[in-house]
Amino acid sequence: MRYISTRGKAPALTFGEAMLTGLARDGGLYVPETIPTLNKDQIAAFAGLSYEETAFRVMRPFVGDTFTDAEFRGAIDKAYAGFSHRARAPMVQLAPNHFLLELFHGPTLAFKDFAMQLIGQLFQIALAREGRRVTIVGATSGDTGSAAMEAFRGLANVDVFILYPHGRVSEVQRRQMTTPSESNVHALALDGDFDDCQGRLKDMFNDFTFRDGVGLAGVNSINWARVLAQVVYYFTSAVALGAPHRKVSFTVPTGNFGDIFAGYIAKRMGLPIDKLVIATNQNDILHRCLTTGRYQMDGVKPSISPSMDIQISSNFERALFDAYGRDGGAVAQLMDEMKAKGGFTVSQGALQGLRDLFTTGRVSEEETSATIRAERTASGELLCPHSAIGVKVAADHLGSVPMITLATAHPAKFPDAVEAATGIRPGLPPRMADLFDRPERLTRVANDLSAIERIVMERRRL
Ligand SMILES: *Cc1c(COP(=O)(O)O)cnc(C)c1O
Repeated sequence: MRYISTRGKAPALTFGEAMLTGLARDGGLYVPETIPTLNKDQIAAFAGLSYEETAFRVMRPFVGDTFTDAEFRGAIDKAYAGFSHRARAPMVQLAPNHFLLELFHGPTLAFKDFAMQLIGQLFQIALAREGRRVTIVGATSGDTGSAAMEAFRGLANVDVFILYPHGRVSEVQRRQMTTPSESNVHALALDGDFDDCQGRLKDMFNDFTFRDGVGLAGVNSINWARVLAQVVYYFTSAVALGAPHRKVSFTVPTGNFGDIFAGYIAKRMGLPIDKLVIATNQNDILHRCLTTGRYQMDGVKPSISPSMDIQISSNFERALFDAYGRDGGAVAQLMDEMKAKGGFTVSQGALQGLRDLFTTGRVSEEETSATIRAERTASGELLCPHSAIGVKVAADHLGSVPMITLATAHPAKFPDAVEAATGIRPGLPPRMADLFDRPERLTRVANDLSAIERIVMERRRL
């Protein structure tokens, strides 16, 4: 299995190389050269299996010979052992034909743990084997950073630097990043928004002297291995509701397009998915793009669902690559236009292809709060604001096909928004009850590439 860049100019890599690299050297994102498929019998055989066993069967064809079966199984088992629910990704029912997939039982209470815990294990195996070390720099709107620190803290071969937008993450999110005491993890509070964080991260990857000098590795949602880990719960949940013998639909609270892109991969692999619904908050570039055909930035508006406060949806490039018939030159041109003019127009053919695959909905701040409140009364479920956005959009698309909405974070990660909506302040699970008593450690940084690079070079252990 080889991985190719969405911009067509970087060398093809193995799974292991693509995982350790993150962003391609031509600025593109790695995608598998071909998508392996599973037939109906193979999918039907997932019924009743553990999450871990299904994970192994879904992901194995993508991994090639980077890991042996035993290594890969071992990594999967360790990755999910720390989750607080035996099912790993359990479902509850909200309404007739509407189900909630709870993806927040991992160590940092957001779905990011599914991918990050696994790649923490896979990095360890790959680095130890090659006697290599890497510097991971990540940009976060809140949840990726804490998940990455949790997965990599204390590891000998890895230093981790996380850029987050100063003052724009919830207090629980910030404390999860600033309280780990291990000396190989560093929280950098950047003066800017998430797109600035992601922009400087991309600049670091494009600064080849720096990139090669520090052994830069990326674990943002553009890392293919993360997308792959997220494909698994589309299978486990769909099979639990009767797939492949009946279809299911999914609604996904979306920011950087990683999670919903995993659903698209599941569909391409043969899972009978009817609708893939993109749910956005007021930062609605994807909703506008699919509605009008114009992908145009217009600045981030901070919201009560901060993990989705994104204008440039990085993984959308992967969907564009397929919509443009895997024409890397065409994608590179769109991205150049994006850089020069802040937007581009999707061709008619590509737009039609995207509309056949994805439906979209946008939810305002008021509707988000109202949904948290209403759902508490209707089903007893206490939703985080991101999950509420999914539930609201899903409710507009209910029909005869079962709908699964992804609950992307635990309500206790966003206690202020939940309390404002319901009067109930959700408590942290006992294992992190002392989060507010632990000392914090962070560094403020300007939105300036060379200043950030200097900090990384000074602090990483040699
Ligand atoms: C990251 C995140 C999202 C958005 O997921 P993408 O893969 O970036 O689209 C939604 N909700 C929560 C809680 C998140 O942490």
